[in-house]
Amino acid sequence: MAMAKKDVKTILDLSLSELQNLIKGNGGKPFVAKQVFDWVYKKKVINFDDMTNLSKDLREKLKTIIPIVPFVNVEVLPSSDKLATKYIFELEGHQFIEAVVLVEKKYKTLCISSQSGCPVDCKFCLTGYAGFKKQLSLGEILGQLLYVMNDGHAITHLVYMGMGEPLLNVETVYASIQRITSEEGFYISRRNITVSTSGYLQGIQYLIDQEIAINLAFSVGNPNPDKREKIMSIEKRNPINEVSRLLSQYLKQHNRKLTLEYTLLKGENDGDDELEELANLAKYLNAKVNLINLNPHPKIPFEPVSKDVIKKFKERLTRKGVRATIRFTKGQDIVAACGQLGESLIKK
Ligand code: SAH
Ligand code: SF4
Repeated sequence: MAMAKKDVKTILDLSLSELQNLIKGNGGKPFVAKQVFDWVYKKKVINFDDMTNLSKDLREKLKTIIPIVPFVNVEVLPSSDKLATKYIFELEGHQFIEAVVLVEKKYKTLCISSQSGCPVDCKFCLTGYAGFKKQLSLGEILGQLLYVMNDGHAITHLVYMGMGEPLLNVETVYASIQRITSEEGFYISRRNITVSTSGYLQGIQYLIDQEIAINLAFSVGNPNPDKREKIMSIEKRNPINEVSRLLSQYLKQHNRKLTLEYTLLKGENDGDDELEELANLAKYLNAKVNLINLNPHPKIPFEPVSKDVIKKFKERLTRKGVRATIRFTKGQDIVAACGQLGESLIKK
């Protein structure tokens, strides 16, 4: 595994008091830290030169000490339908992360990465195929949001559904949610934030202990434990039954939504038995099911189902009294849909 250089500390990694100390240490008045915070989190500025109420000397000094975002290069790929835009961020040490902006009528959602690559190795996922590269730092997570907002996207919703398993980087993910939702930070409502997990027990327990109220999405893969283990190695140590029990505990504590993400794989998890078990799980958890057709890739050993199969699957779930939706397929040409990211890791 390629080792990343030490994480570059950025403005986004600092709390307000840490920034106050840094600015004091460089001859600035502590109140300037609040001004910098406002430029970054309210006005989405990513250059010190734009911070016009800071003295020129201080701006020049800050430039030499600390960057605002940690990216050495950014590639922007709009889809031909204009409904999705993929961002590939290059980090120090030739590491890559991806994020996707999805445009809907009333809102703009950012699908954000929590790790570069992923160690979980779900057999249908390109990020898993690419393997684990690194844990993202706070600045690397927040930097994705700041950068796309600076690029003109007024993000209203966030889903931790990009690269990586967020609950395997749960402390940093938690810190990022704090900053995203806090009044001095981006100030986005907790109700508009969803963390998607393949079901890591310790991570769910962490969320329960922190009493953090956000929406959760659980990637089922297959509701049958034996079959699930074949395509999702996480099942071995994190059995779906225990995950479900913990999720229901989480839901009892917080009045938040749970979605079951179900990626359909032809001939693998699209049968009657799976449908029945999935419906039971959804009812037990009072969750909505979001059906995702597999985004195929030469490196992935599965095929998507037909449009007709996914439609019928949805209708049958509905008849069983389960709320079900089909995930839109925006930005197919740039492989922009969340959960199918990783091309940059394989290519570069
Ligand atoms: N690690 C987290 C979040 C990232 S994956 C998780 O697993 O939930 C986000 C979603 O994309 C998951 O629901 C996953 O099942 C789905 N996904 C992964 N690979 C996919 C593919 N090739 N086609 C469609 N969905 C995929
Ligand atoms: Fe990791 Fe999620 Fe992909 Fe599984 S589906 S390999 S947990 S990113």
